[in-house]
Amino acid sequence: MGYFMVCKEFIKDIPRFLDDSFTYKELKEFLAHMDTCEECKEELSIQILVTEGVARLEEGNAFDLQNEIEKRLEEAKSRQRMHEFLVRLILIMLGVAVFALLIFCFVYFGFDI
Ligand SMILES: [Zn+2]
Repeated sequence: MGYFMVCKEFIKDIPRFLDDSFTYKELKEFLAHMDTCEECKEELSIQILVTEGVARLEEGNAFDLQNEIEKRLEEAKSRQRMHEFLVRLILIMLGVAVFALLIFCFVYFGFDI
């Protein structure tokens, strides 16, 4: 039942994925579910086909569905990875800053802190 709810949420969120209107947290959850659920991945493929495919056909361009889906997912995943990298970088820098401050206090005030 919980599983079913997740799939329902996923399918409801597909248009937002296509619009790129997810937060990073939402995107992470979305991609994580897609990786574990073939049915939702299938549903997403269909929706990409419908939205992108129609636009491409109107432009008169050839449309490679598999390629298009992989491109979209790859873009989303690399954005997600970049976001996680930046968050980690900020945490490391904060850690270094706190450490430097402690060292400074230690040196400046001696052992009395
Ligand atoms: Zn699912």
